[in-house]
Amino acid sequence: MSATHVEPPLATPAQAREQMSGLMMPHPQPLVIDGQVRTCGGCGAYRDWIVISIRDGVWLRCPAGHEQHEARLDTAWYDQHSGPITHQHDSYEDGLRHLVH
Ligand SMILES: [Zn+2]
Repeated sequence: MSATHVEPPLATPAQAREQMSGLMMPHPQPLVIDGQVRTCGGCGAYRDWIVISIRDGVWLRCPAGHEQHEARLDTAWYDQHSGPITHQHDSYEDGLRHLVH
């Protein structure tokens, strides 16, 4: 076992699930940020996002499961765009089960 432990600068949602529960919401429409449609860096998807708000900021999860931090969005943006349908889940998996069919 190593004696040193270096924290990564950002925890992915999957890592953060151990520390806290995040808020997440579906975003089926194209996501326009600064006048541009946000596309997935992994597969080019541009809609059917799941938007995840955790301590580190806002993450996007595309339909194929690619997770990416979106620095231009923050929790204030999330609060503005999330409605009463947003659910607080006990765990990351619970939230995904609720949103992904
Ligand atoms: Zn993708």
